Amino acid sequence: MQKARTKRRTSKKAAVRRLDAEFRKLIMQRDGWTCQKCGKAYPEGSRGIQVSHFYTKGQHEWMRYDPDDACAMCFRCHLIWWHYEPLEAAVWLKGYLGDEKYEALWRKAQSSPKIAATHAAVARRTRETVENSGKDWGHKETMMSDFSRWPKICGGRIR
Ligand SMILES: [Zn+2]
Repeated sequence: MQKARTKRRTSKKAAVRRLDAEFRKLIMQRDGWTCQKCGKAYPEGSRGIQVSHFYTKGQHEWMRYDPDDACAMCFRCHLIWWHYEPLEAAVWLKGYLGDEKYEALWRKAQSSPKIAATHAAVARRTRETVENSGKDWGHKETMMSDFSRWPKICGGRIR
C-alpha cells in the first residue's frame, strides 16, 4: 500500500515537470517571449521570463495547463507586482483580457475541479491551440497525449 502510493506520487511529479516545460513553451511562443505587463521582450529560451497564472495553480490545479489562464511575465512583474498587488492586478487583467474573456475565466475558475467535462475541455482547447498555431512543436504527439492525460493526473489517478 505504502509502496504504491509513493510510486504514484513520483510519476505525478515527473508528469507535472514535463507538462510544465511543454506548457511554458506554448505560452512563450504565443506571447512572443514578451512580458504581457511591461512589454519587455526576451530572447527565445531566456529564463528571465516566466509563466504567470491568473488563477493560482495551487487553488485551481485543473486550470494549470489552460492557456486562457496564463501569460508570459517577466520576473519582476510576476513575482514583485502580480503576487503583491492583487487589486491592481485584477484591474489590469480585466483590461488585458477584455470583459468577456475575463468573465468566462472567472466562471471557469468557480467550476468544480471534479467536473470531468471541464478537464476534457481544457485538454481539447490546449490541443487545438497547438494544432492551430501552425508551428512545429517537435514532439507534438507526445505533448498532446500528455495534456489529454492531465485531468486524470490532476484528479490524482494516473491510468
Ligand atoms: Zn514585465
